[in-house]
Amino acid sequence: MIDIKSQHNLKFGQQNKCQICGNIKLKPIINLGLQPPCDSLIQLKKKDFFNELYFPLNFVWCSKCILGQIDYVVDPKLLFYPEYPYRSGITSTLAKNLISTAEKIYKVHQYDLSKYALDIGSNDGTLLKGFYEKGMKVIGVEPTNISNIANKNSIFTINNFFSYNLAKKISKKYGKASIVTGANVFAHIANLWDLIKGVKELLNHNGIFVTESHYLLDILKTTQYDSIYHEHLKYYSLKSIIILLKKYRLKVFHAERISNYGGSIRVYVTSLDNKNIKINKSILNLLNLEKKYGLYELETFKNFAKKIIKTKKDLNQLLLELFLKNKTIYGVGAPGRASTLLNYCSISKLFLPYILEQSNCLKLNMLIPGCHIPIIDEKTILKKQPDYLLLLSWHYWKPILKNIRSKGIKSKVILPLPKVKIIN
Ligand SMILES: [Zn+2]
Repeated sequence: MIDIKSQHNLKFGQQNKCQICGNIKLKPIINLGLQPPCDSLIQLKKKDFFNELYFPLNFVWCSKCILGQIDYVVDPKLLFYPEYPYRSGITSTLAKNLISTAEKIYKVHQYDLSKYALDIGSNDGTLLKGFYEKGMKVIGVEPTNISNIANKNSIFTINNFFSYNLAKKISKKYGKASIVTGANVFAHIANLWDLIKGVKELLNHNGIFVTESHYLLDILKTTQYDSIYHEHLKYYSLKSIIILLKKYRLKVFHAERISNYGGSIRVYVTSLDNKNIKINKSILNLLNLEKKYGLYELETFKNFAKKIIKTKKDLNQLLLELFLKNKTIYGVGAPGRASTLLNYCSISKLFLPYILEQSNCLKLNMLIPGCHIPIIDEKTILKKQPDYLLLLSWHYWKPILKNIRSKGIKSKVILPLPKVKIIN
């Protein structure tokens, strides 16, 4: 019998069993090929083209615990390096969502404001700002240099990887938390045992843990294969989260779907021994929905794969047609998912010479890994009114389109997913 610690703290490299339940009969769904880590952007000055690393990106599914997952774990030190160029605070839609999280959680469950709130993978502190504004003490834990930005903005942040050991140190020094949050860490962290044990260590008896993950149902429903990349090891259904946490004597008492990242699931968790908190009917409702959608059937995943292949063909065909007509096409937005899409669809600089980003984006003047398309300041080029814009942050297409039009840009807009579509 394998103990839970070695089962959930994954070794780097190829995986041959389910990351949650250990099932060895994982179903292959879609192989996105060898890809570079999506946020390992290339800095032109450093000329680091030749050191580019590629790893398998193969999406598989466990029919026992209903977990989507990739079967290769890249060393997190390569993925979340000190200069990691992602800031949650600069996408204004996302920032607004993150800050209001504290209030939204409070409406579902009135956590104790006199204790502190801790956020795992706290990035630039945008989410914690919401708790801070409610008058709470806050602690962030963030492994990249983005923690400096948080600390400058009075959001106390420890620059480290979250672990059970770190949690023990924090609880010794600062006592117990009434709320621990971790947006997206559940999918990212290879040491799940460390994460969950650490969370349990920090919470007081009535404490709650709230975590958000990209939701498997939304990924399938809107063909978001571009959200599959090495940073995302797991793609959760509610059922898989319940099965996982039960192994640690934790219960999910409330679950809701939220719009973050094109469809996420937020779950509220407390100790199985906490009799003060009852399980809400949202749990049963969502489990029923998953079953009704076909999330527990292999057929649904096979259809997902077929749709992915079709969108790739459609997009390639469209770009080729426009290229032959001498139309100019620029990409818009360089989220991590842009790398998966561009590399899987083999889109090169020939078809898409530039990707435009906002002036405050940390990825400016870098190249997307793999396809090496440069990311440039939108100001320098938008005035030229390219014929077409390919939206790579297509999951936020409405506000982005509004923004583009407000700047007087009349270019036609291409959405690459869920279906390839041109908007005039
Ligand atoms: Zn499993």
